[in-house]
Amino acid sequence: MAHRSMKIALLSRNAKLYSSRRLIEAAKARGHSVQVIDVLRCYMKIAPNCTEIHYRGKKLEGFDAVIPRIGASVTFYGAAVVRQFEMMGTYSLNESVAITRARDKLRAHQLLARHGIGMPVTGFAHSPDDTGDLMKVVGPAPLVIKLIEGTQGQGVVLAETDPAAASVIDAFRGLDAHFLVQRFIAEAKGADIRCFVIGKKVVATMMRQAKVGEFRSNLHRGGTALPVQITPEERRTALAAARAMGLNVAGVDLLRSADGPVVMEVNSSPGLEGIEGVSKVDVATQIIEFIENNARPWRTRTRGR
Ligand code: ADP
Ligand code: GLU
Repeated sequence: MAHRSMKIALLSRNAKLYSSRRLIEAAKARGHSVQVIDVLRCYMKIAPNCTEIHYRGKKLEGFDAVIPRIGASVTFYGAAVVRQFEMMGTYSLNESVAITRARDKLRAHQLLARHGIGMPVTGFAHSPDDTGDLMKVVGPAPLVIKLIEGTQGQGVVLAETDPAAASVIDAFRGLDAHFLVQRFIAEAKGADIRCFVIGKKVVATMMRQAKVGEFRSNLHRGGTALPVQITPEERRTALAAARAMGLNVAGVDLLRSADGPVVMEVNSSPGLEGIEGVSKVDVATQIIEFIENNARPWRTRTRGR
């Protein structure tokens, strides 16, 4: 083998998940060793010129790279563990700051907008007293209203009329939650496109089609995954979105709007199961190859700063 053998830490809470199993398999097939590490079991020593991570009674040392697979519910602590690895000079496939950027939907949308990347016109608010004006700013119904903390399509509501939108917004106000109000992209017809980005390439794609009578295409909501060919503009948009977040590996979700592709979300721990199944691409091996080509000590530019 041309490349040297690496010691890789897979930060995952569950080694049995499809994505974890595939990454372990692909790494081992290419001669690397992999240790699965539950971020929540990592504890850290921080002192002047001293950066240590301990795990189950032992110091973690000598890793060439970490692959963060940080679930949405453990973003805060998971990012801190990744940052600690970065401070020890260990290469992380996705940097801690990039993970944090993409996870914060408000921050992510602000950055995408600054880079001129397509997205549905979006308003953000925290319990606004100006529901009517917020709706005027974003545009008339139909509107999609989303709780920021939601995942897998939970807390995503389509309001067909202005009065319906106003009452959903008022209901969310009562929850004292952050939410966004977005133009509904009706012409997407319940389909979204997942672009799997590694480095400067979209390596695999799939389309998710919502079931009849549902506008949310999430597989958890009964959506179906299908093969899809993307356009050059969609490819450029996906790559630009991943780059705006600073992610080496990302799952960029696009809708096909009348004005071209619009980004819904940039996922920093995109799952492999659906996309490998539909596209027949060995995404796991391409991730490992990317690490072989890029993992160097102190390669992390931000080092958590
Ligand atoms: P989650 O992060 O919980 O999956 P999303 O924002 O991705 O929430 O919304 C879930 C699904 O709802 C999307 O995959 C998409 O199919 C649909 N959807 C969300 N926002 C819009 C919109 N503005 N226009 C049309 N469809 C939308
Ligand atoms: N498995 C989830 C996904 O890729 C990870 C959670 C997340 O990144 O928000 O969709």
